[in-house]
Amino acid sequence: MEFRDLKRQYQLHKQDIDAAIQNILNHADFIGGSKIKQLERELAAYVGVKHCITCANGTDALQLALMTWKIGKGDAVFVPDFTFFSSGEVVPLVNATPVFVDIEEDTYNISPESLERAIVYVLENTDLNPKVIVAVDLFGQPADFIQIRKIADKYHLLILEDAAQGFGGRISGKKACSFGDIATTSFFPAKPLGCYGDGGAIFTDHDEWAELLRSYCVHGKGTDKYDNVRIGMNSRLDTIQSAILLEKIKFFDEETASCHAVAEEYTKHLQNIVDVPVIKEGMYSAWAQYTICFHSAEEREQAARVLKENGIPTAVYYRKPMHIQGAFRDCKTIGLDCGITEKICERCLSLPMHPYLNRKDIEKIVTIIGRMAERRL
Ligand SMILES: *Cc1c(COP(=O)(O)O)cnc(C)c1O
Repeated sequence: MEFRDLKRQYQLHKQDIDAAIQNILNHADFIGGSKIKQLERELAAYVGVKHCITCANGTDALQLALMTWKIGKGDAVFVPDFTFFSSGEVVPLVNATPVFVDIEEDTYNISPESLERAIVYVLENTDLNPKVIVAVDLFGQPADFIQIRKIADKYHLLILEDAAQGFGGRISGKKACSFGDIATTSFFPAKPLGCYGDGGAIFTDHDEWAELLRSYCVHGKGTDKYDNVRIGMNSRLDTIQSAILLEKIKFFDEETASCHAVAEEYTKHLQNIVDVPVIKEGMYSAWAQYTICFHSAEEREQAARVLKENGIPTAVYYRKPMHIQGAFRDCKTIGLDCGITEKICERCLSLPMHPYLNRKDIEKIVTIIGRMAERRL
């Protein structure tokens, strides 16, 4: 059994994907070109925003957004304590201060109440300027952008939506990557829309920011890349990757729908045994991960071990809260009470999740977890 079955996906679409790659090889058109432009147009249309700028990966995408907003020394950037490292890593990279915020216990996303408390704390107790909220669509479910937008407006903050795991999710009819003032995603192979290497994209409706982003990702180019008007990065999506993504986006919605069916099946069997992921009213998850929580750390370790013995791969996303990551040791950070994150980090376990997981696989997984829970009673 695979945790995320990329081999199966490739085998099913091999002809189209191989032809798309071969076409790029025939044209020896490896950087830029019409396929990149076409992908950016298709992604922007899919999400429903004006501009899409592709780049080298989801981490660069976040950094480029902060650079575009001129975030730097003395600025506070609010980041959920429970997320992949990148969401916070980019903040010291631009010399700003990350403020780690606790999450909601049932959705694993940033808690609007904790967020507002953190903003008030920074205003009252530090000389930092609150500037940006990094809202992560963790495991595929959009963050609570209705509440987050209210808070952002009240305190005049910008929202950076980290939709690396959220592409394909939505709130009512509105798609992930359209909620932030700038939104970013990643095409790392295991993400909901993955390519065959590294890749990323940035989305915004704002014309001026879009132009700045296009400059920052190509060495701060002015009229062309040999006219350099600001210090930027070299962060581009390979043309081969864009050709692969143009093929994969054709069956993307179908795959997401299959992930939904898997999630529903898991939840039906597991909801009385462990804490299952809660999808809020009106939300649609891209199901990057299906993550459950056990009653204790020991139970989580035991479940992972027994599942492994039965040939079932699992993963712990994430074992360490951001505020205790060693890398932040030497930078200024603020971590307020993050008790929920600490608890979830000890108890969470992500189960295999992909469109090709069949009923028998799911049955095997839920039976093993169920048997363990019986012993608990
Ligand atoms: C994967 C991921 C990123 C980084 O994407 P890369 O393409 O690997 O750089 C950022 N944020 C979150 C939440 C992620 O899951």
